[in-house]
Amino acid sequence: MKKKKKAGMTIQQFMDLVNRKNPNEPEFIQAVQEVVESLDDFIDNNPKYVGVLERMVEPERTIIFRVPWISDKGEFVINRGFRIEMNSSIGPYKGGLRFHPSVNLSILKFLAFEQVLKNSLTTLPLGGAKGGSDFDPKGKSDLEIMKFCQSFMNELQRHIGASTDVPAGDIGVGGREIGFLFGQYKRIRNEFTGVLTGKSLEWGGSLIRPEATGYGCSYFAENMLQTRQDSIKGKTVVISGSGNVAQYACEKVTQLGGKVLTLSDSNGYIYDKDGIDAEKLAFIMELKNVKRGRISEYAEKYKCEYVAGKTPWHVKCDIAMPCATQNELDYNDAVALVKNGCICISEGANMPSTPAAVEYFLEEKILYAPGKASNAGGVATSGLEMAQNSMRLNWTREHVDEELKHIMKNIHETCIKHGKDKDGYINYVRGANIGGFVKVAEAMLAQGLV
Ligand code: NDP
Repeated sequence: MKKKKKAGMTIQQFMDLVNRKNPNEPEFIQAVQEVVESLDDFIDNNPKYVGVLERMVEPERTIIFRVPWISDKGEFVINRGFRIEMNSSIGPYKGGLRFHPSVNLSILKFLAFEQVLKNSLTTLPLGGAKGGSDFDPKGKSDLEIMKFCQSFMNELQRHIGASTDVPAGDIGVGGREIGFLFGQYKRIRNEFTGVLTGKSLEWGGSLIRPEATGYGCSYFAENMLQTRQDSIKGKTVVISGSGNVAQYACEKVTQLGGKVLTLSDSNGYIYDKDGIDAEKLAFIMELKNVKRGRISEYAEKYKCEYVAGKTPWHVKCDIAMPCATQNELDYNDAVALVKNGCICISEGANMPSTPAAVEYFLEEKILYAPGKASNAGGVATSGLEMAQNSMRLNWTREHVDEELKHIMKNIHETCIKHGKDKDGYINYVRGANIGGFVKVAEAMLAQGLV
């Protein structure tokens, strides 16, 4: 790490301060460190931003609450609910809800911090937030999911609103959960507003919102490849995860002429040498979204390889798209990918690559997009859902998809603007961090010390 002086504070001193204030929050520290390091020279050259960063790493508001509910067996269960309202300087708080047993303050603060920069990159007026619960939806009945969501919303509703804070889905929160959450909000507040995004089409949702993160991540990969006169067509692609983001990344990659070799869940990955085509993907969508089964069942049905307990990064491919969770791709995985000829990484998940893996990708000068740039299509389309809700209109599929493509292209151009090295290599990490930071920092300066 550089030890350069930055208006009286070195990066190390700044990180010591962040560490002291946020003990036992490794994911949050990791996310802040990555951003601070890539902003160092930029802030040196623009001293007016010194001090803004210190405000930016402190959430505007942190809400933690009890979520009591009753299981099908009649047992009382207590979960913990969270909402981190990180930054509202360029728009109402916006960011997903995650239901997963690993959820804690550190993970949600890292996600909220990333969300602030990501939302700024979309060019839409969206602040940054994240929330969720340590509730584990796996193995729960629909009734239990509904009871939990209702109890969660009983508290959350007093903190959110269409012009205040607009949550969406994330890991463990899909269309079913958004439905239960929206229903409870409407019942308590007696108002039908766009307080959540990711809603069903019949009651305020937007076409393309379910597809947006995976599609956007594929469009971003295509944009990156175009800088080297290349494209997804004819390429082999390794994807992790088999949830919302992975499913639609798989669909779009296939439509663009790529061949998807793998998908995974937390138990292991499937490796289908023939490629996961539209028909096989339909089986996965039914398996994951309706039957809520395991990815190993795909291997049984299509007689392909299933590797238990491993991630897919050692499979030879041209392109990799991590679409499961944070820190799922480490240094050894990065080395294996590059050694096997991988030329492009487009992150669908948030912070899926460890810092050592990212450093390696940048050293090797391969095309590498951090999630805050390449997965921003999801929140961008949520922004489009909010716009449609405000106008009480529904745009066509083609219109929303065009907007999404346009936004991903803009984000890509912003990354080039701020991330191009002297030798022509595009450092998308620096590009995304500076591009996202400037707009928020300017708004914070203009609005005074709040
Ligand atoms: P889903 O819940 O739909 O799917 C998550 C997938 O990742 C599942 O296959 C799940 O497997 C796997 N997974 C989750 N946790 C782990 C873990 N600890 N180890 C291994 N595998 C894991 O979530 P999404 O697809 O919505 O989200 C995936 C990623 O994309 C997350 O990082 C999220 O923050 C990010 N993202 C999502 C957006 C969206 O619009 N949904 C927008 C931008 C980013 P299993 O079923 O076994 O748990």
